[in-house]
Amino acid sequence: MSQQGYVAAPPYSQSQPGIGGFGPPNSSIHYGHYGDPNSSYSAPQPGVSKSAVPFGSPAPVGPPPPGAQHFSPNSFQNGSGTPGQQPQRFQGPPPPGNTGPSYPPYSHQSQAAFPNTAPASSTAQLADQLNSMQINNYVSHTGPGTAPSSSVSPGHRAAFQGPQVLPPAQQQMGLPPAPQLPPPPANSVNGLCAQPALPPVARQGGIPGPVPPNPNLQHLPGQPPGPGYHPQQANYGPQMAAPQLSYPGAFPSGPAQLAGPPQKKLDPDSIPSPIQVIENDKAARGGQVYATNTRGQVPPLVTTNCVIQDQGHASPRYIRCTTYCFPVTSDMAKQARIPLAAVIQPFAAVPPNETPLYLVNHGETGPIRCNRCKAYMCPFMQFIEGGRRYQCGFCNCINDVPQFFFQHLDHMGRRIDHYERPELSLGSYEYVATSDYCRDKKPPNPPAFIFMIDVSYRNIKSGLVKLICDELKTLLDKLPREEQEESSAIRVGFVAYNKVLHFFNVKSSLAQPQMMVVTDVAEVFVPLLDGFLVDFEESRSVVTNLLDQIPELFADTNESETIFAPVIQAGMEALKAAECAGKLFLFHSSLPTAEAPGKLKNRDDKKLLNTDKEKTLFQPQGNYEALAKDCVANGCCVNLFLFPTQYVDVASMGLVTMYTGGTLYKYNNFQLDADSPQFLSDLRKDIQKKMGFDATMRVRTSTGFRATDFFGAIYMNNTTDVEMAAVDCDKAVTVEFKHDDKLNEDTGALIQCAVLYTSLSGQRRIRIHNIGLNCSSQLADVYRTCETDALINFFAKSAFKAILSQPLKTVRDILMNQTAHMLACYKKNCASPAAVSQLILPDTMKVLPVYMNCLLKSCVLASRPEIPTDERAFHRQLVMAMGVADTQLFFYPLLLPLHSLDLKSDAVPAAIRCSEERLSEGGAFLLANGLSMFLWLGASVSPELIQGLFNVPSFAHISTEATSLPDLDNPFSKKLKHILEQIQSQKPHTMKLMVVKQREQPEMLFRQFLVEDKSIYGGASYVDFLVCIHKEISQLLS
Ligand SMILES: [Zn+2]
Repeated sequence: MSQQGYVAAPPYSQSQPGIGGFGPPNSSIHYGHYGDPNSSYSAPQPGVSKSAVPFGSPAPVGPPPPGAQHFSPNSFQNGSGTPGQQPQRFQGPPPPGNTGPSYPPYSHQSQAAFPNTAPASSTAQLADQLNSMQINNYVSHTGPGTAPSSSVSPGHRAAFQGPQVLPPAQQQMGLPPAPQLPPPPANSVNGLCAQPALPPVARQGGIPGPVPPNPNLQHLPGQPPGPGYHPQQANYGPQMAAPQLSYPGAFPSGPAQLAGPPQKKLDPDSIPSPIQVIENDKAARGGQVYATNTRGQVPPLVTTNCVIQDQGHASPRYIRCTTYCFPVTSDMAKQARIPLAAVIQPFAAVPPNETPLYLVNHGETGPIRCNRCKAYMCPFMQFIEGGRRYQCGFCNCINDVPQFFFQHLDHMGRRIDHYERPELSLGSYEYVATSDYCRDKKPPNPPAFIFMIDVSYRNIKSGLVKLICDELKTLLDKLPREEQEESSAIRVGFVAYNKVLHFFNVKSSLAQPQMMVVTDVAEVFVPLLDGFLVDFEESRSVVTNLLDQIPELFADTNESETIFAPVIQAGMEALKAAECAGKLFLFHSSLPTAEAPGKLKNRDDKKLLNTDKEKTLFQPQGNYEALAKDCVANGCCVNLFLFPTQYVDVASMGLVTMYTGGTLYKYNNFQLDADSPQFLSDLRKDIQKKMGFDATMRVRTSTGFRATDFFGAIYMNNTTDVEMAAVDCDKAVTVEFKHDDKLNEDTGALIQCAVLYTSLSGQRRIRIHNIGLNCSSQLADVYRTCETDALINFFAKSAFKAILSQPLKTVRDILMNQTAHMLACYKKNCASPAAVSQLILPDTMKVLPVYMNCLLKSCVLASRPEIPTDERAFHRQLVMAMGVADTQLFFYPLLLPLHSLDLKSDAVPAAIRCSEERLSEGGAFLLANGLSMFLWLGASVSPELIQGLFNVPSFAHISTEATSLPDLDNPFSKKLKHILEQIQSQKPHTMKLMVVKQREQPEMLFRQFLVEDKSIYGGASYVDFLVCIHKEISQLLS
């Protein structure tokens, strides 16, 4: 995207309603997504696509010319009898009738309303009773009276629900009614949740917020920096909280108001629990086969393990949607304000027990495509006229079936080879592309990896350079390859740099590597072609020799200044000269201050926080955008491993990485001993990743709606082609859709995502994912099929994109407003009549408020001076590329009790809610969010457990310096190690383990991740947020 391309995307491009400016939910002025006159969408622009050819070409407008024949004469020679044209590996899934335990379409009605598995204490019993009152009020659709209201005793009500006693017949949860909250202060800029300043008493503890159950946790002395934070910036002590007690104006900060008499406070057990939702889904759908044979069915949650069987729609591993039923009209969509989006992870890893994608090869004919809209042959094409023609499911155009592809239809009108061809019966498959889909119509060369090592003083002294070189010697044997191939086709090259560039010739015929220095960094050129990119097998001895020599060569360096942009430029030029796509691996430590293009200066300015200029902190300096564009155009993906000790302007340095589909890794204050395992694990995983290079993605839709906005580690040259220099298994693109006509309930809403890319072996391919969604004129159908995890992914990415162009407060307000709108619309239109004071949440959005609050509290959106700007830019960049599973864990961390591990079972224990009150002094807990991992030990954890984990006799003997657990020969330790591996295995970043003891200093770091509690940065607790949202909904509906 160009800078201009970042003009706020819907819903952020809307002019914002002012304070209290909410109308009824169907009031169009508040609608965030539709009817935006400045929508970035326009007709596809010709010409700018890097792959000029059929893939990127705009669809012709209007009907095809009569008798148009788009296939080369060759296609007629490739008759159906030609062996080469048959699908090679595909045996087809069995017909749906024979598929064993396929999962039935998702039914919320069948799901028990909040079964509570907590131990039977009086509180738990009460929670049971409250839960049975349908906090998940989707079922309220069936009318009041489905759960016996007598299950809640009047006494309990009085104690936990405050004065607002539910009418007996109501099924909804009673929250403290809005009037209990004081009105917003007159000077509030927000009007939503802003509270008057807290009374002084709330400040005395140092940390804002209600007093937690364990007061000892409150009074930590001033914190030293925890690992991972800059010493000069980390400051978690009491003093940080004093100036401001909440996000300025954004969050409810009202412990004073809420921490009244106990009976007025909402019991956390009575509000929807993410853990309960996750566990319910696991219980209902875990371990089963989920077959994708039904349009519009809602898949199991990302947190539920099941086996997915492709039966005509793409696996949820590849595509997840915010709702699986689109409203038929844009008016309905405007009313509900539910974003219509798909999160597409086109190269998602599939477990070994699921079928990998089939490869279809039509030889020189290439893939079969609709003449008009260019959609690829797929299960949505309808064969007619005895099989001689087919109607495109996307544009309805009638196409001739190419002769070689002809097949008779059975009595159902289905081709008799339906189950023999992946492109007729599967949601996902690949096509081998023809030369028409290649640059300059030439088959591509295999990709290359170029390792570019910063050999300035600090990296040499810290031992990092030697570490990298030593690791590469073994790692280069593990370059990724196609499954059927014995060795990797990927070539490798090496550059060392500080203020100048050192290229190395490692040609196999040389006895010694040769070095060539390029000092003119203003106009970088590549001094050698032959011998720079080599096959590691062939050049093994020269490369090994080089890797031995690099640390020695620069051992005496005094050079502390570095360049950065010219390094990327050089890598890109080298790939260009070799006519291949590829990936650069940069290992870099400092702000590039040497005189050269891309020179950066420290511009970190905390005074910009909470001003209209805060957004500039996230915008890149200099010409990095143009460099990124060049890299994408040349298929050059940039992976960046950063080892900063201070501000390095991640927003600028990381930009090329983000636009080119690369991955950014960051190791603050890298210490060889403590941090090597994490870094090396990241490097190993990254190098071995399966991925596609030089990719362009196009999303096609059936008539009536279209893709309008794209969020991810991508580059958009025009409005339709998503360009990625590379795309790996972890990268996801979130696509927002918009109506342009009425949708059809019979034919549904169909989506086809096609990714043209170069494979690891250098083969040009097209990966296709198809999914069909339902359409309905009933809002209830839309709400019933929502997926909160996908919604949060969408909201996070759209908000993190918007902060480049809008004040953060506006962005936070929009998130808040939209949440309230979605829920208000449900209450008004889908739920049975209820009192204003009752909060009613659709079953599928039960945990939307808690997740939304986690997003609002994330360090990216929290304008707090204690949070390093680089950390915020780093998180922002990571989230932009995340899939649904990664955002779910990132925003709501996994918290596992370890003291009660079942050593006989292989399963990971059930998680608990991320709140301090769920911890216990006698317990040990593991917390992970995909980036950080903590082992928290209660002060009175049993000596046996300590012995079993650490092999030391007592709590006092445990070293918190350790970043991993010792390998011990006891069942407990082995089980825990196994769990750690399981959690780690599915995550792109390696999490460094931090051992945290209760009441010791680093505990503050850990506490940030207890996301249901009030944040140390002032973000609201879950309870407070829910009250606030409830108030907002009540206002909208009054
Ligand atoms: Zn078509």
